[in-house]
Amino acid sequence: MSDAARPPIAFVSRHEGSGWIEALGAAMRDERLLDDAAIDDAEAITVEIVIVADPAPERLARFPNLRWVHSVWAGVERLIPLVAERNIPLVRLVDPTLANAMAEAVLAWTLYLHRDMPAYARQQRQRLWMPHAYKPASSLTVGILGLGELGRAAAARLVAAGYRVTGWSQSAKQMAGVQSFTGEAGLREVLTNANIVVLLLPLTLSTHGLMNAERLGWMRGGADIINFARGAVLDTDALVAALDDERLGHAVLDVFDQEPLPATSPLWNHQAITLLPHISAPTDRASAANIVAGNIRAFRQSGTIPASVNAGRGY
Ligand code: NAP
Repeated sequence: MSDAARPPIAFVSRHEGSGWIEALGAAMRDERLLDDAAIDDAEAITVEIVIVADPAPERLARFPNLRWVHSVWAGVERLIPLVAERNIPLVRLVDPTLANAMAEAVLAWTLYLHRDMPAYARQQRQRLWMPHAYKPASSLTVGILGLGELGRAAAARLVAAGYRVTGWSQSAKQMAGVQSFTGEAGLREVLTNANIVVLLLPLTLSTHGLMNAERLGWMRGGADIINFARGAVLDTDALVAALDDERLGHAVLDVFDQEPLPATSPLWNHQAITLLPHISAPTDRASAANIVAGNIRAFRQSGTIPASVNAGRGY
């Protein structure tokens, strides 16, 4: 089909003026990319590909003949219910730039915990001059739950920085310097041995509430936790109880059940929690747009839909 005869690609998002349509348009000049509001019902019937950034469900429902949907985000838990019942393949963002940003954040906050920055910040407020014993990176084990695109990049960066690294995933992995574990027994092994646990799992039916009181209880005394995945993977009340009891050391939280975190949340003032506004790996719009454009170009050439999310397993 000639470029001119092709149906448009629709962009569907709740966030007006987010800059996505401009970035995507610049990356795919041979496509007719339109905001969904600019597509009338007659033309909506012809649309085969929709690009989404947090779409309102009813706006996606306007396109009855979709072949596939591309998300500009890596996390897909809210999109799966929208496409699964219509059996439409969902392609998510897999972007090395995003993985690099996440690896950098995991290293930054691991160093923050390893080099006792929460304690020194508290001591500064108390005008307390009190050095803590230095521990080399090689004496600490960092356990990463989730060895996917982001978890593997983070693991490689931690190995390069000299940490002992373990990882937990559905299927076993072969990675230089990383001990890979699977299953419930593997999870226990990772949690009981790690000085710092990093959550990089997708939110699915099996990971929802995974880090509950029992599994937080498997973590070694004084260990720290970093949640860069999704708020609901970690039971916040159980975490706060473990921090209050000083069973666990410190938590770095970037993701929450409700975002933005309400100003009334007690988490803001917790001494043993460092709170971040979902910034560990922001999407680079230009890079993401180029990846989406590349996937669409490959589809135009081969007719093959790019690798899509497994709706049954939820990621
Ligand atoms: P991914 O490539 O799909 O990797 C997911 C990993 O989790 C895989 O290693 C998978 O195992 C493992 N896994 C999933 N369910 C499991 C289970 N029940 N038991 C054991 N392991 C399980 O995802 P990704 O691209 O790395 O992204 C991970 C998550 O990070 C996203 O879903 C999103 O929620 C979050 N995220 C956060 C930010 C932020 O700024 N905070 C930014 C982007 C993404 P297998 O490898 O064996 O399949």
